[in-house]
Amino acid sequence: MNSLEALTASMPKRIVRNWQASVMRTCDFCGHHKGTVLNGDNSSICASCCDAENYGNLQCALEEALERNAALIAALEQAQQERKVQLETIASVTGLWNEQRNRIAELKTNKPCVKLPGERFDEDGSITSDFDRGWNHYREDAMKAIRSAGGTVIEGE
Ligand SMILES: [Zn+2]
Repeated sequence: MNSLEALTASMPKRIVRNWQASVMRTCDFCGHHKGTVLNGDNSSICASCCDAENYGNLQCALEEALERNAALIAALEQAQQERKVQLETIASVTGLWNEQRNRIAELKTNKPCVKLPGERFDEDGSITSDFDRGWNHYREDAMKAIRSAGGTVIEGE
């Protein structure tokens, strides 16, 4: 059952009465002497009161439908509001993500530039101390590592 069918099914039905069997009698609802038929509870009802009864049922159904409609509109507005908040959150997260991605790309293109102190020698050009020998060895390894990482080494004194 779709929503339109459900709505149609919820509409109050007019009670079918046999007006062929109507008799002149005092209506138990309005007190007028009119053509009446027997009501469900053995009371007599005239055509005007049947109309009023049907109209009253329709009015109740309409009021209920308006209340449901108002509740649906409120729920829809709330959902729209929540979705708007959600979209704003997604937009700010996306913004941060893009910012980070650009920063990473920028860092990738800006390779490090390192200045390393020069090799160590004795005054006569020889290397006698273990410290100097160690330093020169370390310096060579460090330069290779920096260059293989895409960096630039500026050789110092
Ligand atoms: Zn009546």
